[in-house]
Amino acid sequence: METIFEKIINREIGADILYEDRDVIAIKDINPKAKVHILIITKKVIGSLQEIEEGDFYLLGEIVRVAKRLAKEYGIEDGYRLITNNGKKAGQSVFHLHFHLLGGSLFREEL
Ligand code: 5GP
Repeated sequence: METIFEKIINREIGADILYEDRDVIAIKDINPKAKVHILIITKKVIGSLQEIEEGDFYLLGEIVRVAKRLAKEYGIEDGYRLITNNGKKAGQSVFHLHFHLLGGSLFREEL
C-alpha cells in the first residue's frame, strides 16, 4: 500500500509542493504547527530514521541542504527546528521518512 507521501510524490493527491529534486520533495504540512511548517520527504520509501540503511545516509545530507535553502527562502534562517519523529511512541504517524522544518512562531510545542 502506498504511503500518503508516495501519493503526493506520484501526483495522485495534491499538496503545496515547495521544492523537488531527484531525492527529496518538500511540501507544506496540511496541519501546520508553526508559521512555517514544511515537510522534507525522501522520495525513496524508508519507513523511519531507524530503518535507514547503508547507502542511503547521503539522503540525510540532502535533507539538510534543502532545509537550509528553504529556511532562507522562508525567512527563518535565524531560528528553526528540523526534527523527525522516529516511531509511533515518538508521535510518528506517516511511516515514510520525513523531517519537519518549523520556524516563525511555533503554535504548539508537541508535534
Ligand atoms: P509525523 O506525525 O509522521 O511526524 O508527521 C506527519 C505529518 O504529515 C503531520 O504533521 C501531518 O500534518 C502531515 N500530513 C499528513 N497527511 C498529509 C497530507 O495529506 N498532506 C500534507 N501536506 N501533510 C500531511
